[in-house]
Amino acid sequence: MKFCVFTLGCKVNRYESDVMIEKLSRCGYEVTDSLEYADAYIINTCSVTAEADKKSRQAVARVLKFNPEARVYIMGCSSQYDFMQFADKPNISLISGTASKAAMLDNIMSGISPLNFPPCLMVPLPDIYEQEGIPHPSKSRGLLKVQDGCNNFCSYCIIPYLRGRSRSRSLKSIIEEAWLQSRYTDEIVITGINISAYGKDIGSDLTELVKALSVVPVRKRFGSLECGVINDGLLSAMGDCGFCDHFHLSLQSGSDSVLKAMNRHYDSAFYLEKVELIRKYFPNAGITTDIICGFPGETEENHAESMQTVRRARFSGGHVFVYSEREGTPAAKMPQEPKEIRSRRAAQIAELIKAGETEFLTAQRGKTYRVYLEEEEDGWSVGHTSNYIKVYTRCNSLKKSVNLKIGELYKEGVKAYE
Ligand code: SF4
Repeated sequence: MKFCVFTLGCKVNRYESDVMIEKLSRCGYEVTDSLEYADAYIINTCSVTAEADKKSRQAVARVLKFNPEARVYIMGCSSQYDFMQFADKPNISLISGTASKAAMLDNIMSGISPLNFPPCLMVPLPDIYEQEGIPHPSKSRGLLKVQDGCNNFCSYCIIPYLRGRSRSRSLKSIIEEAWLQSRYTDEIVITGINISAYGKDIGSDLTELVKALSVVPVRKRFGSLECGVINDGLLSAMGDCGFCDHFHLSLQSGSDSVLKAMNRHYDSAFYLEKVELIRKYFPNAGITTDIICGFPGETEENHAESMQTVRRARFSGGHVFVYSEREGTPAAKMPQEPKEIRSRRAAQIAELIKAGETEFLTAQRGKTYRVYLEEEEDGWSVGHTSNYIKVYTRCNSLKKSVNLKIGELYKEGVKAYE
């Protein structure tokens, strides 16, 4: 029997799918994570926006195009948000949520299908971290999940309602898995729903995690961080312990009154202080961000404040999102800004971010960096520097780390030479 595990959404979902793929392979099943013919499909869904929900629903039809007779299993954030939206879909054998995904495989492998309609098995969100197994070796950089859930309740975000309270994985199991992954990759990306909350529930913290990972001989990179976790202790530990000088520091808005309405626990001055602290320890750091534009109540003045904060931060890249209501969040109940205003503001911020990115990449020309060549793209070997510059090279050393000299701008990165 052949399974296809189809993943939507974030790195945590990707990691959890890799754990399921490893479990199925060890149980002797043929497994793929590409959209192709299979006897059964596990769709690991996403619900970060209404659009993500829609794509999760549409994924059922997409997989059945390959095999109309296949069994379909739904899990993840979208079914946790509203399992009924999958009830009328064809061939659904089981619907579960965000918890105990790998454990749900036992039901799937034994062909157990709940008799109720729709065939739903929602496991309560756990209070402690679920250690569900190890991921299938990644094709490129390794993902290492260290935390789940979130207690922040940013007013636009549905995730805390779907993933539950923040819960941290034990240092011991993180280190064991990092050693395992170091056998097949030169770089590990530390991921979680809110990794900045790591350790708070188990008497540890991110700095202790960084120090513990120093023994594992691979490059380590953090996923998204909250500015509140940035301090001298963490930054100096990162410098000593083989962590990348790349900080994806979510700003979300550069206006203090909008940050307040978003229930984000910092202001623009605090954020910029942290950016400067990072540059004190890592002068060449790549600092990228996420920004939401057109948040309810955001005025033209607030937007101008946001633009100013972006200019002062001098980001090396970032994602800009047009605010979209998410039913079930406090922000969705607030008076909304017209869509065309949201899009116009997002375009202006995106232009600023692009200018900062170009300036950062241009300043790197002639410098030599160690690059882990992860994959191939249109005949190029592609990888990233420690400060997250995307590099295209003709150097033919896939899955290896090489020293390359930065050249001209190319696509969303640069060309580089031996
Ligand atoms: S920190 Fe905020 S945006 Fe991130 S998952 Fe938690 S609630 Fe959502």
